[in-house]
Amino acid sequence: ALLVIGDVITDVVARFATPPAHGTDTAAEIRTLPGGAGANAACWAAHSGCADVRLLGGVGADARDWHAERLRRAGVRARLVVDPHAPTGTVICLVDASAERTLLTDSGAALRLSPADWSPSLLDGAGRLHLSGYLFFTGSSRRLALVAMEAARERGVPVSVDPASAGFLGRLGPHRFLTAVAGAETLLPNADEARLLTGLPDAARAAAELSRRVPLVVVTLGAAGALVAAEGEVTARVPAPPARAVDTTGAGDAFTGAFLAARLAGAEPAAAAAEGCRAGAVAVTLPGGRPEPGRRTA
Ligand code: ADP
Repeated sequence: ALLVIGDVITDVVARFATPPAHGTDTAAEIRTLPGGAGANAACWAAHSGCADVRLLGGVGADARDWHAERLRRAGVRARLVVDPHAPTGTVICLVDASAERTLLTDSGAALRLSPADWSPSLLDGAGRLHLSGYLFFTGSSRRLALVAMEAARERGVPVSVDPASAGFLGRLGPHRFLTAVAGAETLLPNADEARLLTGLPDAARAAAELSRRVPLVVVTLGAAGALVAAEGEVTARVPAPPARAVDTTGAGDAFTGAFLAARLAGAEPAAAAAEGCRAGAVAVTLPGGRPEPGRRTA
């Protein structure tokens, strides 16, 4: 089993052809979709064939049932903690004609998880724990992440962390983040996050450097695929299959979910990264951050 602890978010995706003007403007399309880096990765892991995916996440009372139903349909066994005083985390995703996105986030209940929400039984039978990096940005959810990491360490369960966004990392500080995740087995940053965490402009050098601190580092490079690094060296470069991108939201989460499912099934890091790239290439062709329900693409 895979246990994911992470953010459950409502994505409001607005597409437009030309940048919106002040006043009232018309979007090409506005859709409300389930998202959140943690929840998305869990869904992609289930989609990629992982039979038992568990998710611990926080939501508000406003959208609990809506999220629970979508996670259930995606094959994820979710324990959603309801915070009666906070709205469900919401992200406004502005997607332009070239499929690049601008995100405006209010994490709401998603980052109000705390150690009180932890129960060791969540790890029963788990072969892996994955933490969404967003958890590290508030005190209470960071404490939960650390409690879960420690419980995983005691049981010999490997831990992976996706460092969330470069914007958040910049505010937290790379040093604090790297100290907090020192016990992880795998770090899954994108190129911007890898650069921010190391101060190195070159993604390959950043990957190599990070792998001196965490045993396995996989850096995603958008359309250029991914790099795998271990023990201070880049050990594999994995190309991305060509894809016609319509919405890059969730590409990294798809990569993460498929990578984790493959690792759990026994794949070596480079082979798992190739699975990640396959899922990422599918994700960029879909609106929003989740796989299409019912259709196995992996
Ligand atoms: P994030 O969404 O975290 O910023 P990336 O943009 O690096 O992450 O994308 C993650 C993965 O998704 C890449 O490693 C790649 O496999 C796939 N991917 C992203 N963009 C494209 C693209 N335009 N074409 C094909 N694959 C892509």
